[in-house]
Amino acid sequence: MPVDLSHIQIQKKPFESPTYDVMDGAARWEVKVHDHGLIALVDAMPRLVPQGQTADSAIVQAARVSYGAGTKKVNEDRGLIRYLLRHRHTTPFEMIEFKFHVAMPIFIARQWIRHRTANVNEYSARYSVMPDRFYRPTVDNVRQQSMLNRQGGEEPVDEMTAQQFLDYLAKTEAHYQEYEELLGKGVSRELARIGLPLGIYTEWYWKCDLHNILHFLSLRMDAHAQQEIRDYAYAMFALIQPIVPVVAEAFLDYEFEGVHMTRLEIEALRTGKPLASDNKRENAEWEEKRNKMGL
Ligand SMILES: Cc1cc2nc3c(=O)[nH]c(=O)nc-3n(C[C@H](O)[C@H](O)[C@H](O)COP(=O)(O)OP(=O)(O)OC[C@H]3O[C@@H](n4cnc5c(N)ncnc54)[C@H](O)[C@@H]3O)c2cc1C
Repeated sequence: MPVDLSHIQIQKKPFESPTYDVMDGAARWEVKVHDHGLIALVDAMPRLVPQGQTADSAIVQAARVSYGAGTKKVNEDRGLIRYLLRHRHTTPFEMIEFKFHVAMPIFIARQWIRHRTANVNEYSARYSVMPDRFYRPTVDNVRQQSMLNRQGGEEPVDEMTAQQFLDYLAKTEAHYQEYEELLGKGVSRELARIGLPLGIYTEWYWKCDLHNILHFLSLRMDAHAQQEIRDYAYAMFALIQPIVPVVAEAFLDYEFEGVHMTRLEIEALRTGKPLASDNKRENAEWEEKRNKMGL
């Protein structure tokens, strides 16, 4: 039987006050990252917001659903948002969403995709030919293996080694010609791609709610994240900051630039004694926090 919707009446109600587009009527706000990368904001929810307010207002609207529409003043809204973030409320922040178009090397995409709470649509290298674009760090950004952090690299290596590394990348990129040649000979795209290096660029659309974006940013803007993904995370933060300025400020105040303390750390702070733990890593983390607090 065909679906009959004729009895459903949709009432289209205008906004109660004049609105503006939070993206200033632009199709995208784009930030170039590295040599071939980019992150572009392509849509936001809410896109239209009452004049004199920011998209932050969607959080207040959701949080106050039980008290009726916003009769409160802007500074009270700010206080409410800061309270909600400080007290780790989540769902009001999920009322805001952002959609990004991102071009990044595959080794970054692999880290990024671990954030499961987003919706993703990626370029298909089974369906399409991978473009000839590779990530190469600059000579002064070829980093040494960190002695403290097994996953990290901080200080630059000497120039000769840096150059050797870049030559090594150039050799892996040279496989691209063979990739094209084999495609020309009829090898399927899904197989031909497997000889390409991790530095080749992929693209996707990535949509996520603000609560989970803040979680992403707190992990990926952090100094422990690899610098290349950090560069994207900072660009993402710069893109959303003008749209949700109150949340962005609260995020820096209470989350990103704050310090979470363990019971042992509070005890050490209270008594002035060393941390009651012989775990090297825990002690190093405590040292990091003490430095951050200027102790
Ligand atoms: C510096 C750094 C180093 C890392 N190193 C490694 C590594 O060596 N190896 C490795 O494998 N990974 C590594 N990761 C990835 C990391 O372990 C997480 O997988 C990644 O950061 C995503 O975090 P998340 O699960 O909190 O985020 P999301 O997937 O975005 O999830 C957000 C939150 O939603 C909830 N959630 C989402 N999905 C589920 C679910 N199915 N069930 C229950 N709750 C859910 C959880 O509370 C979660 O915290 C690293 C990450 C960072 C930042």
